[in-house]
Amino acid sequence: MHKAIIVGCGLTGSIIARRLAEENHYDVTILERRSHIAGNLYDYTDENGILVQKYGPHIFHTNSERVYEYINRFSNWNPFKLECMVYMNGHFTPSPFNYATIDTFFSAEKAAQIKEHLRAAYPGRDRATIVEMLESSDAVVREYAQFLFDNDYSLYTAKQWGISPSEIDVSVLRRVPVLFSYETGYFKATHELMPEGGFTSFVRSILDHPKIHVELEQDAQARIRLCEEQGEILLDGEAFHGPVVWTGMLDQLFHADLGALPYRSLRFEWKSCNQSSYQQAPVVAYPQEKGFTRIAEYSKLPVQHCGERTTLAIEYPVPYQADGSTEPYYPVLTAESQKLYQVYRQRASRFKNLYPCGRLGQYRYYDMDNAIDAALEVSDAIFSAI
Ligand SMILES: Cc1cc2nc3c(=O)[nH]c(=O)nc-3n(C[C@H](O)[C@H](O)[C@H](O)COP(=O)(O)OP(=O)(O)OC[C@H]3O[C@@H](n4cnc5c(N)ncnc54)[C@H](O)[C@@H]3O)c2cc1C
Repeated sequence: MHKAIIVGCGLTGSIIARRLAEENHYDVTILERRSHIAGNLYDYTDENGILVQKYGPHIFHTNSERVYEYINRFSNWNPFKLECMVYMNGHFTPSPFNYATIDTFFSAEKAAQIKEHLRAAYPGRDRATIVEMLESSDAVVREYAQFLFDNDYSLYTAKQWGISPSEIDVSVLRRVPVLFSYETGYFKATHELMPEGGFTSFVRSILDHPKIHVELEQDAQARIRLCEEQGEILLDGEAFHGPVVWTGMLDQLFHADLGALPYRSLRFEWKSCNQSSYQQAPVVAYPQEKGFTRIAEYSKLPVQHCGERTTLAIEYPVPYQADGSTEPYYPVLTAESQKLYQVYRQRASRFKNLYPCGRLGQYRYYDMDNAIDAALEVSDAIFSAI
């Protein structure tokens, strides 16, 4: 009988568990340090009867047919196009910025001029990045880009990464495009969806297999030890030769003995309001407010049965602390941190049955579809290694 251990019961760990159990008859044990399944996708119904997402608003989007087919096995999905906004200079405007933004902040004459220059500077294109626009040879395009940079991008990015606006390197700016039309919608993907019963229910259905066993509130650091000299993994003190999939932070596997991989975290302030609506979109960025960057209003996301009340999560970016008081959300990708990650990765590769995976194990910002793709690939790699 073969056994596999999976660390982390997020999307990545759950999908690999399912494939190992279903396609190769492994007995799979998942160790999860939190008290719930689904990782950062975890959602639950709050005291207002509203389905909220504990770790921030998630909307599924993908261009991959393989990923789309895979998720459809485990839930019904409803189309949902996320509309985001930015609250800037006292006005709500669409995110990504579009022609409506130009109409809101400039006179009719100036607005017409900006649009004409955008069309001329980017013939045949319907969008550009803010970085391209800041570097444009057209002065009107540059001036418009500078307006967006000063009132949104630099302030938002500074709060997100905890630096001053003057220190911002354009390479870290949000990759949201600027649109040359009145088109709205945050993502531009073939499939933009929400699971009919919510994300926790979707993950529960992936885990629903007799050969998958989930142990909650189990920190794998206390159960798994690496013997680097022998290239052997110990589980509860005994050599374990089956696949070990690690979807936690890679440096943790080595007790961060060469230094911790840096992350940025978030603190959510939850608020209930006695009103049916608080803001003009489910997710709004507030670049000019002190401390927080975004507000998610969950009653505006699907799968809701709400009435007169609404629930908000206000997002404050904060430094990540390894003492367990904060969650590792975004890897801080610098040349130095990537080099450190590669050293840990190299050490991990000496264990032939160890598979670091997922957004923490691979130290990348992964959207859900990237995480699924990577999980399918790692499962294939395990199958070809046995
Ligand atoms: C604020 C925010 C918003 C996002 N919005 C979107 C969105 O709209 N659309 C989208 O596609 N993607 C979004 N994402 C990305 C999405 O959350 C990830 O793609 C997804 O969570 C990746 O799953 P994972 O299993 O790799 O990681 P995780 O969900 O982080 O799962 C890892 C699991 O491992 C557990 N673990 C870690 N260490 C240990 C240990 N030592 N022992 C035991 N268990 C351990 C953790 O508790 C966790 O449950 C968002 C991410 C954030 C942070």
